[in-house]
Amino acid sequence: MIYLDNNATTQIDPQVSQKMSLFLKHHFGNPSSLYPIGREAKESINQARENIADGLGADRSEIIFTASGTESDNFAIRGVMEALPEKDEFVTSAIEHPAVIETANYLKRLGKKVSFVSVDKYGMIDLDRLREKVTSKTALVSIMHANNEIGALQPIGDIVRIAKNKEALVHTDAVQTFGKIKFDVHKLGVDLLSISGHKIYGPKGVGALFVKKGTPLLPLIHGGHQEGKMRAGTENTAGIVGFGEAGKIATERLKKDKKRLYKLADQLKKGIESSVPDIKFNGPEEERIKTTLNFSFLRLEAEAVLLALATKGIYVSTGSACSEDSDEVSHVLNAIGLSPEQARSSIRFSIGRFNTEEDIKTVLKELPEIIDNLRKISSGSED
Ligand code: PLP
Repeated sequence: MIYLDNNATTQIDPQVSQKMSLFLKHHFGNPSSLYPIGREAKESINQARENIADGLGADRSEIIFTASGTESDNFAIRGVMEALPEKDEFVTSAIEHPAVIETANYLKRLGKKVSFVSVDKYGMIDLDRLREKVTSKTALVSIMHANNEIGALQPIGDIVRIAKNKEALVHTDAVQTFGKIKFDVHKLGVDLLSISGHKIYGPKGVGALFVKKGTPLLPLIHGGHQEGKMRAGTENTAGIVGFGEAGKIATERLKKDKKRLYKLADQLKKGIESSVPDIKFNGPEEERIKTTLNFSFLRLEAEAVLLALATKGIYVSTGSACSEDSDEVSHVLNAIGLSPEQARSSIRFSIGRFNTEEDIKTVLKELPEIIDNLRKISSGSED
């Protein structure tokens, strides 16, 4: 198997699964219990919190564990909007993950004023439009750090300056950047930031929200006193322990992994561009998480390409995993100006820690022939 869908999810790191299975076997205590096995579980959670905080440049008191990147996004947006009822405007972008877009639509149904700022043909946010949309009534601006479909990396520093000028808070969805590029939440200047375990070789069903000290925020889930009364529910202890380990490994390996993976991505990009005709590269050349490559294979249906690659054991995506089972064209590709036909011919390759140079060579050997054959079939069926 050649797995090139690492933006959808990642294979768990063996060191993480080993840590989790030992934890599951030996530590069943409830972290809220005061006797030793409870306290041990609590300590393990706090160690994980420390690891995640270290990776973000945050204080451990600024990390709240959640059940997913999606929950972290919902929590940040709804939590701030509810905490600041006197400000009823929310600003986001047109290319956010559904976790943000659908939360924005929910706010609209509640009667809040919501703006979706447009992006240019590379997927970069239009800062002039953002400046127009942010007002003194804006409670929160939420713009993703990097896009999951095309990798576009947004200028968070500029976004923060624009928002702070009107005293608005800033949230960023960093699910696709944490562990992949180096950043520090305080240098970035954001108030809230979402991350997820399964994108960094950790378990699914666990995420975290960074909340800068003093940020007004109300809980999304009410109940017990877990997570400083900000996220009720008995903790997913093994998941959190696994996430913490994955975060620690990602932080330690970041520089080395990034260099190797960017080189592989570059080989794949150049190889496709030189061996496959009639393609369109989607996304910015430079301001991008370079392990994300999105190409339109013009005149083809992406699904046919995906299935043909899958018969060779090569797994890619036709867009974001969340829209895979829907007929709708990707809202991201639509926002950067692709026609529905171009959008429907788009394939995302996303490279990760367990990919090798051999994988890239195999893809570059198989892909040109697959595309050529599919084009012959589709032009034959049109005759
Ligand atoms: N935000 C982005 C940018 C993502 O890519 C994803 C997952 O695809 C999410 C949020 C949702 O994360 P989770 O799968 O942990 O809910």
